[in-house]
Amino acid sequence: MAGPRIGVLGGTFNPVHLGHLLIAEEFRERLALDRVLFVPAAAPPHKGDRRLADPLHRYAMVALAVADHPAFAVSDLEFRRPGPSYSAVTLELLAGELSGSLLYFLMGSDTFLDLPAWRTPERLTTWATVAVAHRGGVSFDPASPAAAAVLARLGRPAWRRVPPEPWSAIPPGEVILVETASLPVSAREIRRRVAEGRSVRFLVPPAVADYIAAHHLYADPER
Ligand code: ATP
Repeated sequence: MAGPRIGVLGGTFNPVHLGHLLIAEEFRERLALDRVLFVPAAAPPHKGDRRLADPLHRYAMVALAVADHPAFAVSDLEFRRPGPSYSAVTLELLAGELSGSLLYFLMGSDTFLDLPAWRTPERLTTWATVAVAHRGGVSFDPASPAAAAVLARLGRPAWRRVPPEPWSAIPPGEVILVETASLPVSAREIRRRVAEGRSVRFLVPPAVADYIAAHHLYADPER
């Protein structure tokens, strides 16, 4: 029998917001995932210049956000090792820890277009199927030369698409474009609103809004 189907959503989660939770839920449903693991990056190599809340705060906010979803969980894997968080290494470690599982590396279309700047992106498909959702509020043309270049970098000639293809017809290690709903929400916009003293209700789960206020996160304007 095939092993559990695990989605892996990496990110800075600075902070986690409803855009993350909605695509995670959409991926879970569309790809029949048994679990979605949120993996906050301790030291993201690409966002080093960005004002980041302490990793423990970001982890705690994800833990609060996923607490009432039986299929969602948070992983501390990237906190358990020193140095920058490289996703190919994270996936390899997860593949070892969760041996027998089928891994799906989940991402929004903005992250997909960034992949060529990552360390060894071609290794991602050794460990997981790469699943991409069109991120709300950000333009993305899956037929563009930019998207084709990323597919080529990942060693795939073309997208597999769900639907029309059923998830069960797609072998592991492919790059798939998944039709999902998504929200035009970004962590940057949330940080900006908090710094301006504005409400972030209905953009983050209530427990996350309370946590941000209680710990005075994002109070200073970002440069
Ligand atoms: P920032 O605004 O600080 O850059 P972010 O909102 O993009 O942060 P990340 O933690 O960098 O959040 O994102 C983690 C993953 O979630 C990425 O793959 C990203 O594409 C995806 N994602 C983030 N926001 C959305 C959204 N609103 N809809 C769909 N996917 C999203």
